Amino acid sequence: MTRNALRIELARVYGFCPGVRRAVEMIEEHLAREGRVATLGAIVHNARVVETLAGKGATVARSLEEVEAPAVAITAHGAGREVYAEIERRGLKLVDTTCPIVKRAQEVAQDLAQEGYTVLIYGEETHPEVRGILSWTGGKGYATMSAADLPQFKGGKLGIVSQTTKDQKAFWEFVRAVIARLHREIKDLRVVDTTCPETGRRYRAALELAERVQAIFVVGSRNSANTRKLAETCQRTGVPTYFIEDARELRPEWVRGLSRVGVTAGASTPDELVEEVVARLRELGGENG
Ligand code: SF4
Repeated sequence: MTRNALRIELARVYGFCPGVRRAVEMIEEHLAREGRVATLGAIVHNARVVETLAGKGATVARSLEEVEAPAVAITAHGAGREVYAEIERRGLKLVDTTCPIVKRAQEVAQDLAQEGYTVLIYGEETHPEVRGILSWTGGKGYATMSAADLPQFKGGKLGIVSQTTKDQKAFWEFVRAVIARLHREIKDLRVVDTTCPETGRRYRAALELAERVQAIFVVGSRNSANTRKLAETCQRTGVPTYFIEDARELRPEWVRGLSRVGVTAGASTPDELVEEVVARLRELGGENG
């Protein structure tokens, strides 16, 4: 039986972003060195990673009340200053995996608030990262995704920052819309671009990949917002896109008759899941191209 010549191409950038990779490594190092740790929320939105870390002694707690381990980890999304105070009050050891890019956004927001600016965050106010940044403003900030929704600004000094994972272009469009709306009330404006380049890099690499392949496999958890958006980006190109959690979901008929397929993964997907998908594609006749 002749095997079809199926070329497999990986996106130029895919999988764990540096912030998530660093967070997972910090937890692994802590587990190896000191043992049990509870993470405040999942360290990353991926069941495989959570299960692997659970096997080594990491539990997931929804709040500090649930923490039984002697140590607690703040995730890459960061946390508000009241969380740090409560960890100290409870005498827990802290493993702070806050991504340095998120930490910078928190520090910028804190500085702006201390200098008398009302801090406007372009982002979703219920998102854990945004809740954390808001906390660092000490009640002098608010978050919104729409420049039409700015009721809390009464005039004076305005500082604008972004949720790190928001699109940079969309952030600057938001800034322009805010200025158009509030230019009479704003006495002093400071804008700090706190967007993270990582998310955009994955989207751009997926779009480049889509130009060269006949089908794309997007690997990651369905509960991962960034992976869902990556899959939507691929789908919009018109190239058949399959959003799969792991290699077991890959169906042979999806690659039958194809000569070139692409693989990418969201920022929360570990390398091993991508490697397993590539291995499964090889079984189906593929070779890395
Ligand atoms: S997406 Fe960017 S800001 Fe978020 S964890 Fe990754 S590197 Fe950090």
